Amino acid sequence: MANRPPARARRALAALLLIAAGGSATAADYTGPLFDAHLHYNDEAWNGQSGPHPLADVLARMQRSGVKAIISNSRPNDGTQRLASSAETRQAGVTVVPFVRLYRNRADYDNWFRDETIYRMVQDELARGTAAGPFRGLGEFHLYDSGNANGPVAKKLMALAEEKGLVVLAHVDDVAIDLLMANTPSQGQKVRLIWAHTGIGGAPAARVDQLMARYPQLVGELSYRPGLTCEGGKLCPEWRSLLLKYPTRFVIGSDTWVNQRWQYYEELMKGYRTWLGDLPADAARRIAWDNGANLFGLKGTQ
Ligand SMILES: [Zn+2]
Repeated sequence: MANRPPARARRALAALLLIAAGGSATAADYTGPLFDAHLHYNDEAWNGQSGPHPLADVLARMQRSGVKAIISNSRPNDGTQRLASSAETRQAGVTVVPFVRLYRNRADYDNWFRDETIYRMVQDELARGTAAGPFRGLGEFHLYDSGNANGPVAKKLMALAEEKGLVVLAHVDDVAIDLLMANTPSQGQKVRLIWAHTGIGGAPAARVDQLMARYPQLVGELSYRPGLTCEGGKLCPEWRSLLLKYPTRFVIGSDTWVNQRWQYYEELMKGYRTWLGDLPADAARRIAWDNGANLFGLKGTQ
């Protein structure tokens, strides 16, 4: 770029533009580490490394985005095993927290909650573990009909999660949160459940608040959450208040459920950094990193 004005003049001009734009300087983006609490590395992304997003590609995207740890789950579980076992992952500085996906294929999405072979598969995977250590959670699973939270296998898996201290990652509505919690020995007081999207159907903020108060270990993951961001990618006032009311109870995630999400991975993370920058620094840091790291006792400071 030719004929650039001196740095001091450029800074003065930038300050003037900010004042002209909003009357005051807008908050800077959050720049600290990110914990991606909802990541899939599904078969079609890598297909034995000949897919569009082989390991080197996804790790480079995480690195460019400042993502230092991930909850990984995949259909089938081979993608997570691959991420967990590779030296490249360690070299990229990414910590893998492996979850057992309940799906071997797409047909399992609609049947896992009553399919005994899924329960056995979970037991086998838990026994097998990964090169990055034991599985730390179950999911993501979906319930398109909340009543299926009372399916026999759903009930057994919720009880198992509480018993073994596994974290659950569930894509369900608010009604199913109550039903799933009721299926644990502590009635939802002890089980740790990450609510994928904090209700993708847009449960009202007041209802989310009620569930947060009722279940002390409930954590909201914020991808695809309707009503979260407003003008300029900043937090909507109602959600800003909710995040500040429960700063230790929310996490962010990419939800790379289709390859297109991998394609836009950096933009997704940039979007989070924009609204995180709108929060007080300590709350931003918690939601971006600490809450996820604390759930799994990740050591080391980022
Ligand atoms: Zn997902």
